[in-house]
Amino acid sequence: MQTLLFLLITFLIVIFSVLLYFKNKHSRVDKLNSGECPTCGAKTKTFYDENSKTTFKSEVISARVLKNGGCSGVNDVEYRCKSCGLKEVYSQS
Ligand SMILES: [Zn+2]
Repeated sequence: MQTLLFLLITFLIVIFSVLLYFKNKHSRVDKLNSGECPTCGAKTKTFYDENSKTTFKSEVISARVLKNGGCSGVNDVEYRCKSCGLKEVYSQS
């Protein structure tokens, strides 16, 4: 009976860690898409120039499509951080 209980608890812990991993991974992509680096926390900076009345944007994260999935609709997107040199690839639909 004790072994069964132990196995059940281990099973639950494994499921929770997997869920947590996916949630964590998802939030990294969200941050990268919004222009924020999940590693060093650098964000897209915006400057407003009073003289020319224009807003300048300094992007920290650059996204590049590596491979177009075509019919399947899945693209591999490479994100690079100019601030810390982070390089991560995610599949996006
Ligand atoms: Zn960074």
